[in-house]
Amino acid sequence: MRNSFQGFIFNGRETSEQEVEMNSEIVLEGYLYKRSQQKKWTSPVNYKERLFVLTKSRLTYYEGRAEKKNKKGSVDISKVKCVEVVKNGTDQVPCQNKYAFQVVYDTNTLYVFAPTSESRDQWVKCMKEGIKNNNHILHKYHPLLWSDGVYQCCRQTEKLAPGCEAYNLFGGITSKPLPPTPDTQKRPPPPLPPETFRGDIKEDKENIVIAMFDFHPVEPHDLRLTIGEEYVVLEKKDEHWWKARNNHGQEGYIPSNYVTEKKLDNLDQYEWYSRNMNRNKAEQLLKMEVSLVTRLRYPVCPNRTAPTTAGFSYDKWEINPSELTFMKELGSGLFGVVRLGKWRAQYKVAIKAIREGAMSEEDFIEEAKVMMKLTHPKLVQLYGVCTEKRPIYIVTEFMEYGCLLNYLRQRQGQFNADILLSMCQDVCDGMKYLELNNFIHRDLAARNCLVNDLGVVKVSDFGMTRYVLDNQYTSSCGAKFPVKWSPPEVFNYSKFSSKSDVWSFGVLMWEVFTEGKMPFESYSNVEVVEMVTRGERLYRPRLATNRIYTIMMACWHEKPEGRPRFNDLLLGIGQILEGDF
Ligand code: ADP
Repeated sequence: MRNSFQGFIFNGRETSEQEVEMNSEIVLEGYLYKRSQQKKWTSPVNYKERLFVLTKSRLTYYEGRAEKKNKKGSVDISKVKCVEVVKNGTDQVPCQNKYAFQVVYDTNTLYVFAPTSESRDQWVKCMKEGIKNNNHILHKYHPLLWSDGVYQCCRQTEKLAPGCEAYNLFGGITSKPLPPTPDTQKRPPPPLPPETFRGDIKEDKENIVIAMFDFHPVEPHDLRLTIGEEYVVLEKKDEHWWKARNNHGQEGYIPSNYVTEKKLDNLDQYEWYSRNMNRNKAEQLLKMEVSLVTRLRYPVCPNRTAPTTAGFSYDKWEINPSELTFMKELGSGLFGVVRLGKWRAQYKVAIKAIREGAMSEEDFIEEAKVMMKLTHPKLVQLYGVCTEKRPIYIVTEFMEYGCLLNYLRQRQGQFNADILLSMCQDVCDGMKYLELNNFIHRDLAARNCLVNDLGVVKVSDFGMTRYVLDNQYTSSCGAKFPVKWSPPEVFNYSKFSSKSDVWSFGVLMWEVFTEGKMPFESYSNVEVVEMVTRGERLYRPRLATNRIYTIMMACWHEKPEGRPRFNDLLLGIGQILEGDF
C-alpha cells in the first residue's frame, strides 16, 4: 500500500496496470460515507456510502461500485480552503463510519466519514498535501460538526460564520512549515502559530495516550517518549509498535506497552495506581515507607521500572553483533554458554552463543520472529538474534538472579508461604499469556524460569525444545527427557498442549514449595512413569497449605480436560494471596 501523494493504491484495492495508465493521477480511492450538504437536519438517510477518488486536481465521489460507478459530485482541489479532522463528538452520527473529516471549499463544507482513524488520517494527510499551495487557506475553522442548524463547537447558527479555532494546515503533514518556493512567496505566511498545535492533535480522544515510561529512540524511525506527555496514536498495524505523533508534530514508532489511554476512568495514567498490587505487597510497601497508624500523605508506589519491549525497535530482530559487548559468563545449558553483555554499550542483555550441532538453527531463526512478539512482564523477553555468522547468538532480557531453581536452593528457609506463592503467581501469569496465544512451552520447570533484581520470576525458554538436536532430550525414553514434569499423555504419546503445561506447572509449584527439591527424588524416570500411571502423585510439601496443595493436585488430573486452565489457576492463587477464604 503506497500512501504518498504520488501513490495510487489505497483501501486494499490495488489499481491494475491498465487503470494506472488511465488514472495516472489517482492518489487515494476508497469507500467512505458522505453527509448530504443541503439538509439542515441530520438523519440516517442523509448519510450515503460513496466511492471517493482523490486525484491531484479533484476529489470526486461516485454512487455504486468501482466497476460500475455513477458520478455524484466533485470538488476542485484548487478551491479547497481547509481539510481537517472533525474533533471528538462524532459518536452520535447515524452512520457506521465514525471518523469524520471536513473539506471546506467555496461556501460549502463537505463532511466525510471514514471507517478508521488511520483511514481518515490518510485522507486528511493526502488532501492537505494537495492543497498546500492554495492561496486562500482558512486562518480559522470549525473543529466540530455543523449539525442540527448550529456549529457544535461555537454554537453559531450561521452556516457561513467564521471559524472559531485557528487552523493549522501543516498539522499532521510535517512538523515544520514547508520551505518557501517561488510560488509560496506570493502566498500569505503559514496560517498558524505553533501554540495551537496541541489543540489540533487532540482531535480524537480515543487515540490520545499518555506515556507511563520514558522511551529512548533506538532507530531513526522511533519516537522519544517522555513520562506524563500526551501522544496521538496514528497507526496500530503492529500491536507492539504503534506509530504516534508528539506535541511538536514529530512522528515515529513507540512501544505500545509504554503508553496508556488518556481516559478519565483509566487508572493506569495515575502515579498513585499500581496495577499488580495485592494486599501482601501493599502492606510490605506501606510498612517500609510509613507506619501504618498514620494518615497517608503521599502515594507509596513500587519503583515503576520500564517494561521490556518486543525487540529493541519496530521491525527489528536481527542484531548487529558488533553492537554487542560480552561480559561475564552466567551459566551454560543445552544450547551453549550464556553471557552477560551490553547492546550499544548501554542495555544489559543475556547472550546465548549456540554451540555447533546443538540446535536446528534454520527452524529456530524462522520461529524467532514469532517469539519476539510474545511480550509480557512475566516472560523473559527475546530481543533479537545474530544469524549472519556462526555461532548464532540469541539476545534476551538479562535476569540478575539467574534460574529460579538455584535461587530457591541458595535461599532455603528465607521465604514464607506468601512469597513462594507469589513466585508461582508470576509464572502462572506468564503461562496464562502463552496459553492465550496458543503457545505451548513444552518444558516448564523451575530450571527454565529466571529471577530478576526485583525478585520477579519470569518464564524462559518457551518452545525451545523443538529445536534441540539431542535425542536423549527430545525422545520421551531419552535419559534427559523431563519425565518428572510430564503428564501421561506426554510420556506415552508425546501429546503436548497447554494442559500438559498445566501439569508441569503443578510440578513447578511443588519445586517452589520444597525450595528446590527434585520431584520424585531418587526414583528413576521409568519408575516415575509407573507410579504416575498407577495414580500416585507428589506429596504435599511442608510449606504448602491444604488449599495450595489442592491447586497442585488439580494440575495433576489424569486427563488433560480435567485440569484447570492457567486463567483459573491464576484466580485461585490470587484469592489465596488476597486472604479471601
Ligand atoms: P539452555 O537453553 O542452553 O539450556 P539456559 O537457558 O538453561 O540454557 O541457560 C543456562 C544458564 O544461564 C541458566 O541456568 C542461567 O543461570 C543462565 N541464564 C540463562 N539465561 C539468562 C538470562 N536471561 N539472564 C541471566 N542468566 C541467564
